[in-house]
Amino acid sequence: MTTFNDARVRAANDRPPNTKGKYVLYWVQMFRRLHSNHALDHALRLAAGWKKPLVVYEGLKLNYPWAAARHHQFILQGMRDNAAAAKRLGVSYWPFVETPADAGRGLVKRLVGDACAVVTDDYPAFIVPAQNRALAAKAEVPVIAVDGNGLVPLAKLGPPVAAANHLRPRIHKLFAEAWGHRAAAEPAVPKGVGKKLDPPFAPWDPKQDIPRFVAGLPLDQTVPPVPGVEGGSVAGRAALADFVARKLPRYADGRNNPDDPARNAASALSAYLHYGHVSAQEVAEAALGPDWTPAAINPKTRNKDDFFCRDPNVNGFLDEAVIWRDVGYHWNFARLRANPGVERPGVSWQAGGVPQYNFETFDFSPGGERTLDVVLPEWAKATLAKHAGDPRTHLYRLDEFEAGETHDELWNAAHRQLVATGRIHNYLRMLWGKKVLEWSRTPAEAYRVLEHLNNKYALDGRDPNSYSGVLWVFGLFDRPWPPERPVFGSVRYMSSENTARKFNLSGYFEYVNGLRPAS
Ligand SMILES: Cc1cc2nc3c(=O)[nH]c(=O)nc-3n(C[C@H](O)[C@H](O)[C@H](O)COP(=O)(O)OP(=O)(O)OC[C@H]3O[C@@H](n4cnc5c(N)ncnc54)[C@H](O)[C@@H]3O)c2cc1C
Repeated sequence: MTTFNDARVRAANDRPPNTKGKYVLYWVQMFRRLHSNHALDHALRLAAGWKKPLVVYEGLKLNYPWAAARHHQFILQGMRDNAAAAKRLGVSYWPFVETPADAGRGLVKRLVGDACAVVTDDYPAFIVPAQNRALAAKAEVPVIAVDGNGLVPLAKLGPPVAAANHLRPRIHKLFAEAWGHRAAAEPAVPKGVGKKLDPPFAPWDPKQDIPRFVAGLPLDQTVPPVPGVEGGSVAGRAALADFVARKLPRYADGRNNPDDPARNAASALSAYLHYGHVSAQEVAEAALGPDWTPAAINPKTRNKDDFFCRDPNVNGFLDEAVIWRDVGYHWNFARLRANPGVERPGVSWQAGGVPQYNFETFDFSPGGERTLDVVLPEWAKATLAKHAGDPRTHLYRLDEFEAGETHDELWNAAHRQLVATGRIHNYLRMLWGKKVLEWSRTPAEAYRVLEHLNNKYALDGRDPNSYSGVLWVFGLFDRPWPPERPVFGSVRYMSSENTARKFNLSGYFEYVNGLRPAS
């Protein structure tokens, strides 16, 4: 019998299961949670069917692209929460964290050797597609990649789209059915599946002092953890509950006010969503409330503020958290499906410290300088090329941008917020990106600067939406905006002066001036 969620499940190889294996392995890569997770549900089903224990393996290496103390601490706080959740559920949880003394080389392959089958996350960006492909090629057992990215299975959303307006109706059409096939909020673990097994390696101790542990690792310590920001499902769920209680009721008007984040109405959930500590499903459940049913959907509306329910705040928020979020996820996913094998396992992503191969945009030219040619729509490529020779009013190099030393106080403040706190308010993030295009020698150079700064400092960086966001600056998912301007051509332009007129920025400057610099 086929079900709606079969579309989430992809056999990454065609090996037969090893029924003599000791366990079913769930290798957690990006859906770093033990609740509301379709990949976990699938692994539990397989384990129950074969009457085998489930082992959840979650690892963290030292050399992922843009590895830094900030990202490490956030992820490890999540692993601490997952250890506690596994104990509550009664499943074996094997956490591994690489240190100079224990590199864990070939560990996943070793664990797969004792498995009946491997379930893992079908995350359509970062290093995950290449890792899955490499594992599938080597493993003697089935490697099954499961899409737990969002509410609607990405495989059901069709070919890549050029704009959110094209994806919105596809998601709206499937939303009610997807709602009836959500992942288990509290998965049931059948007897036997929960049998406790010990790992064949020294597991990471989640009870230790995590900041101290991270401070002792050979990581980029110049991107330090953000004071007062805690990773993990516990903190993520608390942030979600706080958002729904205090900010959601004024989201429609308040989200774009770039004031102190404690006062503006945006959720600040993107880092938790990125690391999978919180699922898009539970975000929608919390926003819609316990009494909501799909009967409240207005299927005929063309108005995005009237689809899920009659509250424009809830509709506005879900249009971001469900539709816009899926724009980036679906774009990467559909492109991967359309170009099988393009992610090239074995390609090194670490050359000279900064990633040189872009798995998200499929640009494997050295230095990634062809990304814009590979991904932009024709109109954007043509207009940027036409204005390539335009004089720039200001020119900055990566190190000058990174130091936040431009002539523009608003840009510097937005960048300082990113460096110190790992986030930028959405509206200012758009301006931040547009100005890098305006003040760089070429659009290709601007792209590299933005990709690097966004992924290095932002806690939600290296996400499919890092790429849809950064590439939007150059015209992706957008349309021509006349009149033609220097450098931009007909790509949408933004000015600091207009932004400053739109908002009362004194609260924002006050907030940024009070931030401790990252050190
Ligand atoms: C240059 C640039 C870079 C960006 N880089 C990233 C990135 O690295 N990671 C990332 O998750 N988003 C990125 N975005 C999109 C957007 O800025 C963030 O998702 C949003 O600001 C996160 O803040 P929040 O959680 O408070 O959002 P809220 O307004 O509370 O929205 C709720 C959720 O909806 C989703 N969302 C909101 N706005 C967008 C959007 N424009 N596009 C896609 N999803 C959205 C996010 O998952 C977000 O957490 C980028 C945008 C730009 C212009």
